[in-house]
Amino acid sequence: MQTAETDSFFSSICVDRCKGMCCDPWWGIISYGAVKRAGLSNLEGFRDELVRGIRERAGRIVKNYVTSEAPSRPLFTSPERYNVSIRDIRVSGTTITMEILAMFAFRCLFLSPEKTCMIHPSITDGEIRPPHCGFMGAPGVRPNEKGYCRVIHAAGSNGDSEITKALDTERSASLAHYAAGVKSAEEAADRLMLRLRDYCSANYPALVDMRKGSPLGRNDPCWCGSTLKYRKCHGR
Ligand code: SF4
Ligand code: SF4
Repeated sequence: MQTAETDSFFSSICVDRCKGMCCDPWWGIISYGAVKRAGLSNLEGFRDELVRGIRERAGRIVKNYVTSEAPSRPLFTSPERYNVSIRDIRVSGTTITMEILAMFAFRCLFLSPEKTCMIHPSITDGEIRPPHCGFMGAPGVRPNEKGYCRVIHAAGSNGDSEITKALDTERSASLAHYAAGVKSAEEAADRLMLRLRDYCSANYPALVDMRKGSPLGRNDPCWCGSTLKYRKCHGR
């Protein structure tokens, strides 16, 4: 339950000072594993699997993040940006295990054109804001805990210059993640495929050579469905 002091933090820092940066956009982040067997054969099928996996994770966030009144309302539709990367790759024989970090930039349906929350308690005095959405920083929460906000943290223990610094850091991180993102699950999967191919080419060339029937052959059709040869498309 929020105390009056916490409420005043939300009001003075989130609304007046920060203006709801963590809702503009709102970032949903999921980490998960994907396994590719038999080296780099049947890459087209694996690319389809990656697209399904990315869509499924984004859909899971949309389903879980809803307002808390009854009946609830969803906060998001589909992501505005997909920033999906490989955090780690492990190879055992011909099995490749990837750890994927999927970051989705959502546009909340309750974010007004003025960039304020249309259902935030400080505006509506209501209780329909989900506890896990934006405006969630709390002074007592530590780094890596849910609800931690660098800006709130700076406000709790340091002076004005520290708040400004924290705001700048958060803003530039969010802008950089957004700029590095792409607009669809398909594009995000293509990036993963390129990264996978580059990694295997550099470290496990034997896996790349297992390409009987694989779109990795330079004159084979590219996996992206462009109808171009691989060497003229993603293989350039
Ligand atoms: S929780 Fe942090 S980032 Fe979000 S609105 Fe408040 S101060 Fe800004
Ligand atoms: S409901 Fe309000 S606080 Fe929550 S993500 Fe949407 S705009 Fe932000």
